[in-house]
Amino acid sequence: MTRRFVARWTGRITRLGFLIAVALLAGRAEISAQTPSASLPGADPALLEDIAVGSRILADFGVLDGFGHVSARSPTNPNHFLMSRSLAPALVTPDDIMEFDLDGNPVDARGRKVFLERFIHAEIYRARPDVMSVVHTHSAGVIPFSVSKVPLRAMYHNPAFLARGVPVWDIRKDFGDTNMLVSNAAIGKSLATALGDKAVVLMRGHGDVAVGPSVKAAVFRAYYTDVDAKLQAQALALGGEPNYLTPGEGEKADKTNLVVIDRIWNLWRMKVLPTLAK
Ligand code: MN
Repeated sequence: MTRRFVARWTGRITRLGFLIAVALLAGRAEISAQTPSASLPGADPALLEDIAVGSRILADFGVLDGFGHVSARSPTNPNHFLMSRSLAPALVTPDDIMEFDLDGNPVDARGRKVFLERFIHAEIYRARPDVMSVVHTHSAGVIPFSVSKVPLRAMYHNPAFLARGVPVWDIRKDFGDTNMLVSNAAIGKSLATALGDKAVVLMRGHGDVAVGPSVKAAVFRAYYTDVDAKLQAQALALGGEPNYLTPGEGEKADKTNLVVIDRIWNLWRMKVLPTLAK
């Protein structure tokens, strides 16, 4: 009798705990995915969340450190783009996202500090109508390829977009001795010209820029560019000429990657979403 009573109540408490856990999880997802942004009224909450998730996951992977940024072209005004106020990528929330024009001017700064290197984004959006997202990193993996004569090549299917070719942009060529930063529109334009129609451009002694048709794609490319660079350095250390992907293989694999990108994005989103919930 007593044992049956205890068993019945244990079962009820377990079920109640489960329901509370489900409700909490659902509430948490709701908070970060659905709440309209206080700083950008009318903006798509899912896009603002993508920028915050992308910034945080790239920081988790060590591709972004205290610097670097993720942006998106505005879906409602192609001559504007969205990026965080000046903030370490690991700390970006949807409420930190601001809107800029293609001259790098904030639409409504309200006293917030902006990134010095926003001209990277502005000039690439101006030059490349197909680009919907830009990621700038100081990825440790790519630095050796930015300063040596060995071209970065596609090692395997995830970084297939590299098989189109990876230009290296040298700020010194047009601007002499600088502080190495893309701090005005002229320098941004020079970088955008070097990127050309490619997915990634390396910046000599600085880092790289990855672009894509969505925030998910640009973040994916920034991450796998870093992974590829580290693997290529390993393959070169083994000796002999590595057997890289051909441009044809790269084009086909890149198409497939973009189709299945939600699988990895949802995993990354799940990892960083708890850090976004208030
Ligand atoms: Mn930089």
